[in-house]
Amino acid sequence: LSCVLKTIPAPASAEHALEWKPASSLLPDELRDLGIRALIRDDAEATALASSDFGNMSLHVDLPAAVLYPSCPGDIAALLRASCARASPFPVSARGCGHSIRGQASAPGAVVVDMPSLGRLAGGSASRLSVSVDGRYIDAGGEQLWVDVLHASIAHGLTPRSWTDYLHLTVGGTLSNAGISGQAYRHGPQISNVQELDVITGTGEMVTCSKKKHADLFDAVLGGLGQFGVITRARIPLVPAPARARWVRLLYTDAAALTKDQERLIDVEIGAGALSGLMDYVEGSVLADQGLAGSWRSSFFSDADAARVAAIAEEAGGVLYCLDGALYYGGAGGESDVGKRLELLVHELRYARGFAFVQDVSYVGFLDRVRGGELKLRAAGLWDVPHPWLNLFLPRSRVLDFAAGVFHGILRRGDTGAMGPVLIYPMNRNWWDSRASAVFPEEEEVFYTVGILRSAAPTSLDGGQLLRRLEEQNEEILRFCEDAGIGCVQYLPYYADQADWKKKHFGPTKWAKFVDRKRKYDPKAILSRGQRIFTSPL
Ligand code: FAD
Repeated sequence: LSCVLKTIPAPASAEHALEWKPASSLLPDELRDLGIRALIRDDAEATALASSDFGNMSLHVDLPAAVLYPSCPGDIAALLRASCARASPFPVSARGCGHSIRGQASAPGAVVVDMPSLGRLAGGSASRLSVSVDGRYIDAGGEQLWVDVLHASIAHGLTPRSWTDYLHLTVGGTLSNAGISGQAYRHGPQISNVQELDVITGTGEMVTCSKKKHADLFDAVLGGLGQFGVITRARIPLVPAPARARWVRLLYTDAAALTKDQERLIDVEIGAGALSGLMDYVEGSVLADQGLAGSWRSSFFSDADAARVAAIAEEAGGVLYCLDGALYYGGAGGESDVGKRLELLVHELRYARGFAFVQDVSYVGFLDRVRGGELKLRAAGLWDVPHPWLNLFLPRSRVLDFAAGVFHGILRRGDTGAMGPVLIYPMNRNWWDSRASAVFPEEEEVFYTVGILRSAAPTSLDGGQLLRRLEEQNEEILRFCEDAGIGCVQYLPYYADQADWKKKHFGPTKWAKFVDRKRKYDPKAILSRGQRIFTSPL
């Protein structure tokens, strides 16, 4: 190993320094003989932390045997080669920040790679973020947070184009899924905004790949759920950054009016309508009558507004919709026409008159908008609660059937009193590459994402009861789609076993390709077993 081995610091989220204990006999002998032994811990605190995730439904997760804190990509390659060389290999999972919901980044009884330590042990984040102003790209370590990618780029007046709503996620973690937000309609998901990757495959091989070089591995890894390799670097294209965002929220009393307007805004084909592409960011959400003003992801309404909003929601039968949009300006976004663009939009869109809300914020503040809500929830002790989130992609033609059955039906029943945002917004399919591993509805030009992002924080029910009720509702939603023939797929998917992955997620053609790639890049099925896709060598 060429890396300098250092004493391992406590994991970032541990509150106090931990006493180092040597790796126990649980670890395969080969691990002890590797040069990386000093980077491995198997004490209770390290393994507990590495098995936790944002879903906080620990029933799903068993402890790993050990955690590797790599100081450089070579440490990860050494671990994977050691596993691969064994007659019975031990599984290995990369863990970004563990923002998964159901143990996807875990490695029960095996080894978790704590990706953030790549930045920490390499001498701080900055050393793994490098902007090329002439080349208009940033090279970011797979463990880096998108918020740090933003700040490093903005320092040069540049920015990536495609984001997630929440920026404290790792580059490798979102690229293993798709990485979506309100910019995806015009620039594609994050997986469509990558030029090159450094990947360590399941055999421990370190490969640089792109659309021109090792293109099949590049496509496999993007949206590949960690199955084909560990991403240790991504090259992300940059464009000149705007300075500010005019952030707009418009209320709608029915889903048809909302989706019609959203689709007018995202219709960016040549010759499309007057509103197409006017907004730089288009999302939407459902405000059910509970917690109307309390959406933690953004607080838009004053107390007086909240009362008006509650009144119109009641008139609308308890369910209200929002169109969320943003227009960038200033800096590279130009100064002049933001007022005119906004005027045109507010005039043309069919929202409930009198219910347009506008804020003016910095571009960076807009992109990092969810962080404030996170800090508030943390302060209230409501962040580390169970999160039985359900994210779906739906074909455009069935979105109103879904709204009728789910927003006005299933979610209104059951008296859960559960809080949490419900997102709904469309994306253009032509920005999604069907050669990448990510699964999305391919049959229509436009598909919707729906995110039902609820917390099981104890309310009138105790936490455990509430969690069960929310899980039952999620199952009811999936059954409803199946019975109604709504061809949806899960985003950030979870299936209990391979048969479900094959039948419900991939379908025969995509599954055959997925298996073929697994055979090529991780034939012993070492990587990301927490996804429950492959449990034994192929
Ligand atoms: P982890 O949860 O640690 O890992 C996820 C999977 O990727 C695991 O299978 C893991 O083994 C694998 N993995 C991790 N790192 C690597 C790597 N370097 N190389 C290969 N495989 C790797 N998603 C969106 O698209 N849009 C959003 O707006 C959005 N908002 C979110 C808001 C919150 C509050 C949360 C908790 C999640 C949100 N997500 C969103 C979901 C997020 O994209 C996923 O949780 C994703 O997995 C990133 O989390 P992570 O970096 O912590 O990865």
